Amino acid sequence: MAIIISGKELSLQKKEIMKQKVSTFEEKYGRLPKLSVILVGDNPASVSYVTGKGKACAEIGILNETIKLPESTTQEELLNVIEKLNKNVLVDGILVQLPLPKHIDSNSVINAIKPEKDVDGFHPQNVAALYLKQKGILPCTPRGIIQVLDSKNLPIQGKKAVVVGRSNIVGLPVAKMLLDRNATVVIAHSKTYNLPEVCREADILIAAVGRARMITADMVKDGAVVIDVGVNRDPETGKLCGDVDFENVKEKASYITKVPGGIGPMTISCLMENTIECYLEHVGGNK
Ligand code: NDP
Repeated sequence: MAIIISGKELSLQKKEIMKQKVSTFEEKYGRLPKLSVILVGDNPASVSYVTGKGKACAEIGILNETIKLPESTTQEELLNVIEKLNKNVLVDGILVQLPLPKHIDSNSVINAIKPEKDVDGFHPQNVAALYLKQKGILPCTPRGIIQVLDSKNLPIQGKKAVVVGRSNIVGLPVAKMLLDRNATVVIAHSKTYNLPEVCREADILIAAVGRARMITADMVKDGAVVIDVGVNRDPETGKLCGDVDFENVKEKASYITKVPGGIGPMTISCLMENTIECYLEHVGGNK
């Protein structure tokens, strides 16, 4: 029976430490960190994510504004908003909640954010920094996954890690981070031949697919560490569930994360960390 790693608890501990740190900032640097979030349209999932981010800022003492724009906003209008935030010296982090309406090109929007304020770590300059092992802003979800492994001192070096999913925001960057920690990494995807066999090789199995409970117990090696990134609706109950069949897989894994309460809260606390790190760069506090 696996030990459940609670991302919720870990993120609470991290937020408490950040709160203490931020409480010293005004005196030291003359102002507080600020995160500006842009929400275009009213997609319910996006609204809920943006609300969660605002709540975390409030808990820690980070200033937060959510700029709500109508679904009909043009790309040019959105780029103008970003440009103003880029120039505003009191704004440390800019986050554009994805997905954007179809008439807006997400890449152009991401590219428009000043890399030093790109708290999501999606700008090509920050992506390149990760791949070239240079200083940059790390994407939040992969950063949270590594922190979850480190929270239990789970060894990564020399382990075989299988990452299911190859998106730019989760699968690829977490694979690179695991590789940088000297894991032997396999990236699986929708065209992978015999996925169960590939997954069964994993000492560390990361599921970032977006398909409810697709990782079943027969796909998991005894004693594997299983990290579930997926956020799905259970087709039967409508409740939130992950990519992993938690109830059965927990009987085989050594450590496992849950959905909800696993990687989701870690993503938010890493966003807060990124915002604080950007702020410290801006106020010269990292020097
Ligand atoms: P994407 O849809 O961008 O990528 C999904 C990946 O899964 C693709 O690489 C795809 O392969 C692969 N895939 C799809 N079907 C299969 C299959 N049957 N077998 C193997 N691989 C498959 O998703 P994201 O990476 O953005 O997100 C993944 C999940 O993580 C989602 O549920 C999302 O909601 C969740 N998420 C959670 C976050 C959190 O904070 N907890 C943050 C971000 C995402 P291919 O490339 O071949 O199409």
